[in-house]
Amino acid sequence: MDLSALLALAQRTGTVPDLPTRHFIDGHWCASASGAEMDSWDPGTGRVFVRFAAGGSTEVDAAVDAARRALGGPWSRLKPGDRAHMLRAVAQGLRAQADLLAVAETLDSGKRLLEAQGDVRSAAACFDYYAGACDKFHGDTIPLGPDYLAYTLNEPVGVTAHVIPWNYPLSTAARGIAPALAAGCTVVAKPAEQTPLTALLLAQIIHAAGLPAGVVNVVTGTGSQAGASLVAHAGVDHVTFTGSVATGMNVMRNAAEHSTRLLLELGGKSPLLVLADADLDRALEGVMDGIFENAGQICSAASRLLIDRRIHAAFVERLLAKTRALTLGHGLRNPGMGPLNSAAHLEKVAGFLDRARSRDAHILCGGHATTDPQTGLGWFFEPTIVDDLRADDELVQEEIFGPVLAVQIFDDLEHAVDLANGTRFGLVAGIYTRDFSQAHRLAQRIDAGQVYINEYFAGGIALPFGGNKRSGFGREKGMEALRSYSKLKSVAARL
Ligand code: NAP
Ligand code: MG
Repeated sequence: MDLSALLALAQRTGTVPDLPTRHFIDGHWCASASGAEMDSWDPGTGRVFVRFAAGGSTEVDAAVDAARRALGGPWSRLKPGDRAHMLRAVAQGLRAQADLLAVAETLDSGKRLLEAQGDVRSAAACFDYYAGACDKFHGDTIPLGPDYLAYTLNEPVGVTAHVIPWNYPLSTAARGIAPALAAGCTVVAKPAEQTPLTALLLAQIIHAAGLPAGVVNVVTGTGSQAGASLVAHAGVDHVTFTGSVATGMNVMRNAAEHSTRLLLELGGKSPLLVLADADLDRALEGVMDGIFENAGQICSAASRLLIDRRIHAAFVERLLAKTRALTLGHGLRNPGMGPLNSAAHLEKVAGFLDRARSRDAHILCGGHATTDPQTGLGWFFEPTIVDDLRADDELVQEEIFGPVLAVQIFDDLEHAVDLANGTRFGLVAGIYTRDFSQAHRLAQRIDAGQVYINEYFAGGIALPFGGNKRSGFGREKGMEALRSYSKLKSVAARL
């Protein structure tokens, strides 16, 4: 079925056929032992569109067991070049199924189709990148003098668990699974209960690409059942967790039980600094993409605009005009902005603005829950800008994870640095200026895992990504990610 037929079907029936809805364990699709299932909702309509298996410790045990057996099986004897070949086939499979993946992702997560299509492309690029890395990630020789031979080996850490959030279901799965496989590990993934489908489709594609049974397993279900059993499992050697700070801390405590390795990608409250000399057209584009893409449900969203007082009024006026022009609608129609992911999340976002109103915050636009103007359905929130906030305001300090921009005004660059570093988070910072020396000085002084200069979200799979402070630790993407999935062994021989 081509994209237009698939879209017509999805719009007419609210779903698409033949979606995988069971766990993928040891190369097989299976229901939960208990028979439990749960619903997945389309946030654009607020209606259920598919039911899927809800697993727990029984399915997690089976999946970890399969992953452990696969670790010692044919997978471990493949040459790196053969692994590369398989990962390339996964990238091709993703491209071949791009339409189905994008439509399923839009229905499941609510994101605009254009964004979902971009996510599929980036997932495929990720498998291509790590296919290329398989046979280029090697150890060193260490010079100890003529009487010794010493070298290091990169060995796979073993069974890796991947706990995935609902905002970038496919691309977060790919960004963890591809480097883990490139390093020779095996995988058990647990997608978010709101968005299980594309991880299951990815498992199907991986299987079709010829990876041996058990190398990649997917268990669906809730975080408290499937997720908690997975991260606490004695058979898991490494956990990559992407999600909220509170759950991340909980995962950390559970992982401590077996001293399991951990990579945490948590939340953010990232500042985008606009200096007085900036190219304001570019900066406007950066702010609009930075806070309204995926309806602000991005860990690295530019959720704080830090702006020089001298240009504040004029810049905010232009920003307001662009924001008011954003259209809302179901993701399949590619509006300016789609819905939030769930009713519960919508309520949480709305709560922040209710409290802001009671503090008489300067809400320049938006601030309310709403629906798709065409259907009156769905879980939408108006694009919102709140001006001139104090550094200790809740809207500055807390991650809202919605289309809500907090504006802070600075008087000089010292002040800007203080404001930029003035939250518990340290994920991303954006800097817009024509003064490159200043930009690089600021980049050094801001505590963040990545700094984007004059283009917010610049980069791609090759650029390492991760957080400081409460935003987590460890790095994904780039060659750095391979280090997360391997353990270094030093060998020293007396000749
Ligand atoms: P969340 O509640 O922490 O959920 C994330 C994942 O953890 C889901 O798969 C969830 O399962 C699972 N989970 C929940 N409780 C668990 C437990 N006790 N043990 C193991 N797993 C458990 O996060 P969210 O609120 O859905 O997602 C938004 C957050 O993710 C934001 O804070 C955002 O910043 C962060 N995020 C960070 C990045 C990054 O790269 N730094 C990227 C995306 C999102 P269920 O959903 O099935 O319950
Ligand atoms: Mg859903």
